[in-house]
Amino acid sequence: MSELRQDPTTFDWVIIAKERAKRPHEFRKHGPTKSSLLSHSEECPFCPGNEDRTPGAVAVYGPPDNWKIRVVPNKFAALTPEGNTQRDEWKMFRKTLGYGRHEVVIESPLHNKCIAYMEDDHVEQLIGVYRDRYLELKKDPNIKVIIIFKNHGEAAGTSLEHPHTQIVASPVVPPFIRRRYEIATQHFDNTERCLYCDLLFTEFEAKERIVQESEFFVALHPFASRSPFETWIMPKVHSSSFGKIAAIEIADLSRILKGIFLKLHVSLGNPDYNLIVHTAPVDDEHKTYYLWHIQIIPRLTLAAGFELGSGIFINTSVPEETAAFMREVKVP
Ligand SMILES: [Zn+2]
Ligand SMILES: [Zn+2]
Repeated sequence: MSELRQDPTTFDWVIIAKERAKRPHEFRKHGPTKSSLLSHSEECPFCPGNEDRTPGAVAVYGPPDNWKIRVVPNKFAALTPEGNTQRDEWKMFRKTLGYGRHEVVIESPLHNKCIAYMEDDHVEQLIGVYRDRYLELKKDPNIKVIIIFKNHGEAAGTSLEHPHTQIVASPVVPPFIRRRYEIATQHFDNTERCLYCDLLFTEFEAKERIVQESEFFVALHPFASRSPFETWIMPKVHSSSFGKIAAIEIADLSRILKGIFLKLHVSLGNPDYNLIVHTAPVDDEHKTYYLWHIQIIPRLTLAAGFELGSGIFINTSVPEETAAFMREVKVP
C-alpha cells in the first residue's frame, strides 16, 4: 500500500508509492552521460574566449585572462536593478516593476567540469563566491530575499551545459518562503526550540535516512521526499542565514557537497537536478527560528497534472531505501 507522509517544515503531503516504487539502482540514466563533453566549446557563452558574449562581469576570481570563477549579470535577467519597488494597485490587482538582480556564477573555465569532479579547493572557493555575492546583494535595502540555485540538465530547466549557478535577489518575500518561515516560528512559539534542529535530532534518532555526515553538516533523504534521491544538507550548528557561514564551515560543506554529487554521479549516471539554498529572508536573518539548508532535487520523474492540481507529489521511491543505497555507493 502507498503511504501519505507530511513534511514537518512545509506541512505539504507526498505519496510514497511503495507498490510502484523502483529499486534505487533503477533510476540510473542510460545512454551517454554529460561527462563525455569536451572541456571547451566554441559556441558556449561561458567558455573562456567568449567573455564578450555575456554582460560585463561583476566579479572575477583569478587573473582576468585566466579566471577561475566569473560572476556576470544574467543576459536574460528575470529581475534588473532599474527603477524602484513602488507598488501600483488598481482594485484587486497589484503590481510593481521587476526590480532586483539576477546573476550567473560561471563555476569553472572548463565546459565539462561539474562540482562532482572539481578540485576540493575549487568547490570551496565556489561556495565562498556564493557567500560573497549574497553579502554584496544584501546591501541593497530593497532586496528582501536572495535565492541561490542551480539548474543542471534539461529536465532541471537549462540547456546550457557549462557548469553555472544562478542567484536571484528579489524585492518581495513570496508566500512559498514566508510559509516555511511561519511554520518554523510557530514551532518555536510552541516549544521554544528550532523546528529544523528538532528535525535533525529526530533524523539522527531514526538513523535510516542519513546518507553522510561531516564535522559541521549532515546529508539526508527527508522523510517526506518529493522525488527519488531528494537530498538535504543541513548544518549541525544552528544558523538562520547562509550569509553567516564561516570559512571553516565552507571548507567542510565543499567536501560533503562534492561527495554527494560524486555519489549521485556514480550511481545514477549524471542525473539532471536542481539545487536550492534555503535561507531566511534578509530582514529575518537575526531571528533564530529558521535553519538555512541546501536541497538537491534530482529530476528523475516528471511532475504532472496530479501534482499541479493538488500540490501532492508522488514519489516512486522510498527515502529509507535510497538513503541506504547512497550510503553504500563507493566513490573514487
Ligand atoms: Zn562552456
Ligand atoms: Zn536550529
